[in-house]
Amino acid sequence: MSRALILIGPPGAGKGTQAKRLMDRLRIPQISTGDMLRAARAAGTPLGLQARKFMDSGALVPDEIVIGLIDERLREPDCSSGFMLDGFPRTLPQAQALDALLGKLGRKLDAVVLIEVDEEPLVARLSGRRTSKVDGRIYHVVTDPPPPGVEVFQREDDREEVIRERLAVYRRQTEPVIGHYDEQGLVRRIDGSGSVDEVTARIDRAL
Ligand code: AMP
Repeated sequence: MSRALILIGPPGAGKGTQAKRLMDRLRIPQISTGDMLRAARAAGTPLGLQARKFMDSGALVPDEIVIGLIDERLREPDCSSGFMLDGFPRTLPQAQALDALLGKLGRKLDAVVLIEVDEEPLVARLSGRRTSKVDGRIYHVVTDPPPPGVEVFQREDDREEVIRERLAVYRRQTEPVIGHYDEQGLVRRIDGSGSVDEVTARIDRAL
């Protein structure tokens, strides 16, 4: 089974949900630059404050910031048996920096899992998304409502106008990253429609 993985796909494709499931099964850490940036914001660090204005408008945070985060994170001991990158790389310079970093660390990628979903359902998925304050589990107000008593919150950037901008940013800046990994023969295309379990099963088959 593959160990060094990237999960890529438009916002709302289910990367975070699938990453958490894969992490439990493969026993490798999920590394989400979005989660790391949100934690930095919540902690009020200078980096978090710097990232804030980009995130709230749906724009990408500058490459050097996220590359620095990943550089530090991949050197942590828990990454020695593998890792799953969720939401990184999102630009060609980030992908090139990752190639260089992995070369330096003497590692290589096993696969890039691309979760493909049509754009229309994404807006509905994201605008109904809620996250548990307790364990970060992701719910949806209509299709997967949180049980009574579980406190949830809505991400700032899951408002409709910001969602549209994030989708445009994905098309413009992140889609070229897929071509980069196609050239390396690493991309596994997964149909992201249907239930969470169906998508998990497709990913399992593809790996
Ligand atoms: P996510 O939780 O992955 O959807 O990320 C939320 C937001 O964090 C994005 O809309 C960006 O503003 C920022 N972000 C997360 N990962 C990256 C990245 N690899 N490059 C630039 N910005 C990022």
